[in-house]
Amino acid sequence: MSHLSSDVDITEQINKRLFLNKSIVIHWFRQDLRLTDNPALSEAAKNGLLLPIYIYDEKNSGDQHLGAASRWWLHNSLSELNKSLNGKLSVFSGDPKIILSDLVDKHNVTAVYWNRCYEPWRIARDTQIKKELENRNIEIHSFNGSLLWEPWQTLKQDDTPYKVFTPFYKKRYLYSVPPREPIAAPAKLDLCDCKSDKLSISELGLKPTINWHDKFIPLWKVGEVGARERLSAFLEGELTNYEQGRDYPALKSVSRLSPHLHFGEVSPNQVWYASKFLESSDDQEHFLRELAWREFSYNLLYHFPALPTDNLQTNFDSFPWVENEESLRRWQEGKTGYPLIDAGMRELWQTGYMHNRVRMVVGSFLVKNLLLHWHQGERWFWDCLLDADLANNSASWQWVAGCGADAAPYFRVFNPTTQGQKFDADGEYTKRFVPELKAMPNKYLFNPWDAPEEVLNKAKVKLGTDYPNPIVDIKLSRLRAIEAYQFLRDQLSTIDS
Ligand SMILES: Cc1cc2nc3c(=O)[nH]c(=O)nc-3n(C[C@H](O)[C@H](O)[C@H](O)COP(=O)(O)OP(=O)(O)OC[C@H]3O[C@@H](n4cnc5c(N)ncnc54)[C@H](O)[C@@H]3O)c2cc1C
Repeated sequence: MSHLSSDVDITEQINKRLFLNKSIVIHWFRQDLRLTDNPALSEAAKNGLLLPIYIYDEKNSGDQHLGAASRWWLHNSLSELNKSLNGKLSVFSGDPKIILSDLVDKHNVTAVYWNRCYEPWRIARDTQIKKELENRNIEIHSFNGSLLWEPWQTLKQDDTPYKVFTPFYKKRYLYSVPPREPIAAPAKLDLCDCKSDKLSISELGLKPTINWHDKFIPLWKVGEVGARERLSAFLEGELTNYEQGRDYPALKSVSRLSPHLHFGEVSPNQVWYASKFLESSDDQEHFLRELAWREFSYNLLYHFPALPTDNLQTNFDSFPWVENEESLRRWQEGKTGYPLIDAGMRELWQTGYMHNRVRMVVGSFLVKNLLLHWHQGERWFWDCLLDADLANNSASWQWVAGCGADAAPYFRVFNPTTQGQKFDADGEYTKRFVPELKAMPNKYLFNPWDAPEEVLNKAKVKLGTDYPNPIVDIKLSRLRAIEAYQFLRDQLSTIDS
């Protein structure tokens, strides 16, 4: 027995020495958890023994710690990536500056490769790491693996960034050269790992401690294979009714690619070219336009790094938001008494996703009918969405609140009753998430407070007991919102004059 263990020791030492002598290049996975169309990985793979790493960096992220739903996704996505790397993904937790420096100290690292990220805190961190490693003669190679075009490539004629979507879209999408074509996964990966230092993925502690995430399991196939399957299924099926269907939350007409795109399990280039490969149609054009909104959000975040916190239109700084814990809690729990709002908020909680139209309606309700600060909605979405994305979430909340670039006009207050009647006319979506209204006739589904007593009795709904009474009067709260926005304009004109 002792003979055997000393043999093992010797083999390990030999391996270690071999490992130490060989030059190593690191591919640092971040928002690019895939092997195909991964420009940094493909280049790294050409240049020697490859050490693929992931660093869970909670401390450097300022206020943007990963939300609970994102942590669940990340845990699963890393596990899938590790499988496709034959278990060779080395996973760490902590400050990447220290971890990378440590790896350089211990091993013969000659270069580090990564795909660029665009969150302001990541840009600051990466810039510092690049400087420090280059000072130690380590080559740094960074690539674009997350966007169709770099944000600094799409500027107005006067070299300032676009704040309005349509001209951005026209310049970038309609009149420019096509984006980079996707590349295949590296044909060969000569991989190594650092067994002694790395953690297991479970040790990152990303899996939520309470079991609310179990319900996500049948709904999502996390990872690169899942992303590819989702994309194919969408292009072969749901895309054919995208233009019309994308507004109806009960229909399967959207791609549900957003978490896959966020974590980089599929690149926008892969999505773009896979859709372009099909015969052109209005559905295809509309879908590509949505991808362009993603690029626009990243463009805003890059050029206006305070987007997650500061109103892009600074006149909103004096907006009279109210504080109301009770309203916020009822909005979060889907107990506002407005069935479409409640369906959306419960969809979010139960599936980690919410349909885009409903996101707009619940957002408008929070900031306009409840007059709660858009930060409150942004934070809740950040925690609950599987696709929580700093650029898309911040830009969209600013859009909803009216304080962002190219935002919804202040007088556009979505009416949750008419939105429900229009976009979920037969109540399929709403009844799925608000089952207590299952037996309500469609005529009163979105306004149960108008239903005569006998209708409520027949549907077995006692308002205030089985289903809440509305927390605000929709007409009065709309007027209050418009008054508040008017106040802002008056303030502005007083300052201006
Ligand atoms: C208040 C609010 C918050 C939002 N927060 C997020 C967020 O955190 N993360 C996120 O990815 N999206 C966010 N969105 C945008 C949009 O709702 C989602 O991208 C979309 O619903 C995702 O579903 P899908 O993949 O089926 O979209 P599809 O309709 O199939 O669109 C394809 C892709 O285009 C992009 N896209 C679509 N619509 C938008 C949009 N309006 N803005 C930016 N990109 C878009 C997404 O990457 C999406 O996956 C938010 C919207 C609102 C109104």
